[in-house]
Amino acid sequence: MEDIAENLASVKEQIASACRNAGRRPEEVRLIAVSKTKSAAAVREAWDAGQRVFGESYVQEFLDKLGDPQLEDLPIEWHFIGHLQSNKIRQVAGKVAMIHGIDKPGTVGELSRRAVQHGIVMDYLLEVNTSRESSKYGLDPSSVMLAAETCFGLPNVRLRGLMTIASPDPALARREFAELRGCLEKLRSNAPDPALLTELSMGMSQDFEEAVMEGATLIRIGTAIFGWR
Ligand SMILES: *Cc1c(COP(=O)(O)O)cnc(C)c1O
Repeated sequence: MEDIAENLASVKEQIASACRNAGRRPEEVRLIAVSKTKSAAAVREAWDAGQRVFGESYVQEFLDKLGDPQLEDLPIEWHFIGHLQSNKIRQVAGKVAMIHGIDKPGTVGELSRRAVQHGIVMDYLLEVNTSRESSKYGLDPSSVMLAAETCFGLPNVRLRGLMTIASPDPALARREFAELRGCLEKLRSNAPDPALLTELSMGMSQDFEEAVMEGATLIRIGTAIFGWR
């Protein structure tokens, strides 16, 4: 059995230490506990240990957890971190604080339509394929600006920053995180409302220290908290 509370405490200590090494304040980095494939009971355990922000990757699994009696009444801040296509937007809009895995303006368009229908504003990130692995989702870094420009005018959605999944090798990962930071800086200098563009969602169990060094504001950690999937 994993000791989730103990793992969580250790991950938080490692994040704090990475922040000290990077000369950053720990409040600048938020931890998203990635609970995909794990039970509602595991989420509950992390909640009881003080974790408030959780990430899910699969729509049906996320909806099942939302409706689970063990979690139903908890004001969990959910983030949808999996790749999300247009046809799944309807099921997620309004139920999460932020969507991380969008890589097409058309999907943002759909998010905008749903947000208008519900009378809400939805925050999202654009996913960037910084490792350029063909198996990965995400915009090519060179096309982020153009994609963002098509989205800026859409009502009831706010682009808050960028997300990436790096190469498994931490040395490569660090360069990829630096590239994502560069993309965000470029975006900010061209955005109608640069103050909204504050988020860099990068870093997982294997590479969050490198991500903190390169300016991550949201790190997504599953295995180090909940154990192997
Ligand atoms: C699964 C997943 C994570 C967590 O990965 P770990 O290596 O288990 O920490 C982070 N981000 C995304 C997009 C994921 O799908």
